[in-house]
Amino acid sequence: MLVFSAICPHPPILIPAIGKDNLEKIKDTVNAMKKLETDLYASKPEIIIIISPHGEIIPDAFCLNLNTKYTAGFEEFGDFQTKMEFKSTPLLALNIKERVESHLPLVLSSSDNLDHGAAVPLFYLTKHLKNIEILPICYSLLDYDKHFEFGQLIKKEIAKSEKRIAVIASGDMSHALTEGAPARYSPKGAEFDKKFIQLLQRKDVRGIMKMDSKLIDKAAECGMRSFITLFGILDEYKYEPEIYSYEGPFGVGYLVANFRFV
Ligand SMILES: [Zn+2]
Repeated sequence: MLVFSAICPHPPILIPAIGKDNLEKIKDTVNAMKKLETDLYASKPEIIIIISPHGEIIPDAFCLNLNTKYTAGFEEFGDFQTKMEFKSTPLLALNIKERVESHLPLVLSSSDNLDHGAAVPLFYLTKHLKNIEILPICYSLLDYDKHFEFGQLIKKEIAKSEKRIAVIASGDMSHALTEGAPARYSPKGAEFDKKFIQLLQRKDVRGIMKMDSKLIDKAAECGMRSFITLFGILDEYKYEPEIYSYEGPFGVGYLVANFRFV
């Protein structure tokens, strides 16, 4: 059963050993992630499905990482200390694989190492969930409708399962918010982030999926396909989106949102 779902950003500077003094500048995000951790813990999850934009992207297929265990670290960002380990969730993974592959192109991978799109949110969210099982999922570059459908298929297996399951859609908003941002500055970046949040607050998922493709391109986001997969999973559930924080002091929009079931 689905017990929790949220949208999280994944900048490596959120990791204290990497961000150091910069954490002060993204205090709202840090506090929102801590609040989300409390909420997640209270929902007593046994499994976390994490959708990341930075795993093994295969343009024309979705990807499930079915390794038997996972490790995560941040060596590539200069942090050689922070290390995490997670168990896999073989039965749910197999059931999702079987359901999805008869409808959509699916590839299986078996990678021990979690990418930062998965690792950064899990660093915050699993502080008190040492025995949690996880399933890392990677989106494709297929269209938004296929991602929504992918989510709907996953939802059926979540609903069938007796385990308490949380879903985290990892993704950053625009990377073009300021001069010096990772992507080339564009005023469309802030426009995209604002519009997305407005539509999210109205639960206008169709509106999000129909957002202008030029606006999305210029915004240079990495989260849309993660979020739309989550909307597919949430389809037919009654929920209230709660924006915990949004900020972008380094030119990338960080959004933390929880979906409270009503
Ligand atoms: Zn990203």
